[in-house]
Amino acid sequence: MLQRNASQIGFIGLGNMGGHMASNLIKFGHKLHVYDISNKACKDLETKGAVVYSKTSDLAKNSEFVFSMLPNNSVVDASYDEIISYGFNKPTIFIDSSTISPKLAKSLQKRISSKGGRFLDAPVSGGVPGAEQATLTFMVGGFENDFKTVERILQCMGKRIIYCGSHGMGQAAKLCNNMMLAISMLGVSETMNLAVRQGLSPKVFAEILNSSTGRCWTSEFYNPVPGISPLTQTNKVPISLINKDLELVANVARSVNSPIPMGLLTHKIYSSLISQGLGGRDFSDVYDLMEKENFSY
Ligand code: NAD
Repeated sequence: MLQRNASQIGFIGLGNMGGHMASNLIKFGHKLHVYDISNKACKDLETKGAVVYSKTSDLAKNSEFVFSMLPNNSVVDASYDEIISYGFNKPTIFIDSSTISPKLAKSLQKRISSKGGRFLDAPVSGGVPGAEQATLTFMVGGFENDFKTVERILQCMGKRIIYCGSHGMGQAAKLCNNMMLAISMLGVSETMNLAVRQGLSPKVFAEILNSSTGRCWTSEFYNPVPGISPLTQTNKVPISLINKDLELVANVARSVNSPIPMGLLTHKIYSSLISQGLGGRDFSDVYDLMEKENFSY
């Protein structure tokens, strides 16, 4: 459905997630102004009708709303530094959907508002399929009136748009969810492995698990045993990406003095896989590695 009020929207970071999200905004009739350091990513969006920029500062000057979907804290920080130092149209609302620390989200809000702009943190869950099918969940932190202003735009890219509270609370929610996701992947992997080692058929046991009290999203939709969940075959969540989030989680937990024994153990296990050169593998591949290991206590 086309939006009645088409907007001038900037989009910085057109990777696996951002490319689909920007394309969905075009489908709804918005005018897109885009930037990415990858020429290929820019060309793909240009063929769909977006205007490509060579500087984020020029992009920001032509946009009422600016989204960013960038890899990590340092890239997001540097991109906003450039925009803030060159200036933008005063009422512009910046929406960062990257997964970054709540602390950086709060600092971006302060720096942008000191120049007269507005800021929301709006990280997402749903992965690349969710970005492609416009079914993402947005977790939004910031002033509620800004949230209400951008809600109709977020609805072009997502199915569930949830207001989480003040600046940084979107990122706080996102990091907690991803810690749970990573922990549950390890839990399901060792559970499936234990079942198979005892002689159970993985298909039979997965059916039992998914209709019993151990059921969770990972066991049902992203089961690490090949052939059980279709999504595991098509989606990819690299270990390096999930571990980046676990690193952010560890820092947040330290800052609020919250114990996360399972989160830290999960972080340690994924870090050791990265140090073995496996950072590019899917995070469910931890099951393949467990399959080859022996019991130790
Ligand atoms: P990606 O690496 O596919 O895309 C990042 C894009 O940013 C790339 O196109 C890259 O060229 C571009 N880029 C890098 N530095 C830049 C700069 N200085 N200026 C402009 N563009 C720059 O990553 P992704 O999977 O799309 O993830 C983006 C963000 O979304 C990350 O913060 C990630 O944690 C988060 N996220 C990812 C997923 C997922 O399943 N992939 C799910 C939810 C959230």
